[in-house]
Amino acid sequence: MSDATIRRFVPPRGGGNPATDERSAYRWEAVDLLAYKSDASSPFRDVTRQTLFRRDDLAGELRYFEVAPGGHSTLERHAHVHAVLILRGRGRCLVGDAVHAVHERDLVTVPPGTGHQFRAAPDAPLGFLCMVDAVRDKPELPGPDALSSLRAARAVADFLDGR
Ligand code: MN
Repeated sequence: MSDATIRRFVPPRGGGNPATDERSAYRWEAVDLLAYKSDASSPFRDVTRQTLFRRDDLAGELRYFEVAPGGHSTLERHAHVHAVLILRGRGRCLVGDAVHAVHERDLVTVPPGTGHQFRAAPDAPLGFLCMVDAVRDKPELPGPDALSSLRAARAVADFLDGR
């Protein structure tokens, strides 16, 4: 990773799908656009990842994720906390058993051990900064029992089905 003092924001060309058109996502100079997950067994759609800050002398790490319109992150939980700032667009998030609409500049805290998923609106991307521990545990996906109890709430089932 570059340690330049300033790495300029690179405005998107706009309109496209950031998963397939790397210039349609928010970008920064000398920051690589990465696949969201290297583990192909985690279900997600149209998400990219960029690590903005990671240094040996920082206990945290700041990433930028961008979910294309209609896309979603993986439904997962883990012991480490997420501190999220919505930077671009709008969508919804599931945190625990509650669904929330989120917009630019909203802050989302995902407590330890709490299931969470982010979904972009059908007609807008959802880009967000996510602060995490640099050293952290691996995400865990919900099993069939956890999924069916989540689905007992209509609002959650609609969210998980992208409605
Ligand atoms: Mn997570």
